[in-house]
Amino acid sequence: MKIALIAHDKKKQDLINFCVAYQPVLSKHQLFATGTTGQRIMDATGLSIYRFQSGPLGGDQQIGALIANNEMDSVIFFRDPLTAQPHEPDIIALLRLCDVYQIPLATNMGTAEILIQGLKNGDLHWRDIIHSKLEDTVE
Ligand code: PGA
Repeated sequence: MKIALIAHDKKKQDLINFCVAYQPVLSKHQLFATGTTGQRIMDATGLSIYRFQSGPLGGDQQIGALIANNEMDSVIFFRDPLTAQPHEPDIIALLRLCDVYQIPLATNMGTAEILIQGLKNGDLHWRDIIHSKLEDTVE
């Protein structure tokens, strides 16, 4: 599965802790992140992560583009609901695209725990079915 990891500045340590705790699960998947989040997670966990631009410089939109192409299977995005973000429109657009494409999205630790357990149990297997169906239509 392709998983996007994003955290606003005041939530980055929470996401790092989460990734340390679930490193064995996450290491089995293809990981993507916005620039700073990805760097900090890699430094803390040794996980291999493809990094996009930093969020305020377009990283959220780059991840959104993958979602629009059905190339992202899940998003873990620890938002900071108490701080104004300069790139709020990009954030809203990303969340919207997750809803448009039914992409599992966790915006806080509580939901991320459930999502990662689901990932571990194979509950996101339906994403593989969607991918194989898309390949059939392309052929
Ligand atoms: P960052 O971007 O990982 O580059 O800090 C995250 C965001 O603020 O959307």
